[in-house]
Amino acid sequence: MNYRHSYHAGNFADVMKHALLTALIDSLCRKPAPFSVLDTHAGIGLYDLSGPEAQATGEWRDGIGRVLDAPETAPALRHWLEIVRTVIGEHEGRLFYPGSPDLIARLLRPGDTLTCCELHPEDQTHLRRLFRHNGSVSVHGRDGYEAMTALLPPRAAKRGLVFMDPPFERKDEFQRVTGAIITARRRFPAGIVAAWYPIKHRAPTRAFLNALKDAGQRNLLAMELTLRPPLDPARLNGSGLLVANPPFRFDEVARDILAALRPCLGDGETESSVEWIVPE
Ligand code: SAM
Repeated sequence: MNYRHSYHAGNFADVMKHALLTALIDSLCRKPAPFSVLDTHAGIGLYDLSGPEAQATGEWRDGIGRVLDAPETAPALRHWLEIVRTVIGEHEGRLFYPGSPDLIARLLRPGDTLTCCELHPEDQTHLRRLFRHNGSVSVHGRDGYEAMTALLPPRAAKRGLVFMDPPFERKDEFQRVTGAIITARRRFPAGIVAAWYPIKHRAPTRAFLNALKDAGQRNLLAMELTLRPPLDPARLNGSGLLVANPPFRFDEVARDILAALRPCLGDGETESSVEWIVPE
């Protein structure tokens, strides 16, 4: 396990996934019944963008850096950016960036729960420290894919979200995510299942979406944002989020979010799409 998210935190892909993640949790908050979130690949939760790892790549500058510098905040990004700005305010203006566990934890209401899985021992330590005083969050040092059978359906609530954000270090990661989505939906049919995926070139992402379709999965919405025509397979050209069982009218919400991000990201060639891969 070489991947460390601190080098990439706040980049354009994080910005896209976290703005959409906030909207997913917001939709769960619309009903009073409690919900549970399983964050299968959690990372450390909170990132210091002035730290050596983030500074070494500077990726955040073309992601959250640009979004925060935009002259106006689009309504579709308001709630997520409010949280980002709160986090920065809590650190006396230093650029700290909330990763998925911190973001989700801040959106929970009393009675809602978050379970995080993180395999890297150092990252687990950070995560446990971050949530040591938060009784709504539990941290597991276990394989996020195993959690599909071990931790689903959630005990604490009948509804919720499974959020998968693997590092895509392994060649078979798309296949593992496909299997995990299928298992998660079998064990937790009422749950929303969201999985992030990288867009380097088109063939693997098409194969991934087709594999889900061929497996008989329904109600699949794919959101994509590409910075440039995806020609250079060595680079991360775009970012995708597949959502199974999306909330009612989430396609419209996602379109507004991507439209608000597009002008901030990339160099004039940024495109986005929200596509029903298989309707309900
Ligand atoms: N979701 C985080 C966020 O949005 O802030 C970022 C997660 S990062 C892309 C992927 C994380 O998964 C890394 O911290 C890595 O150590 C961890 N990881 C890798 N393989 C794993 C596995 N099989 N189970 C759980 N965590 C894993």
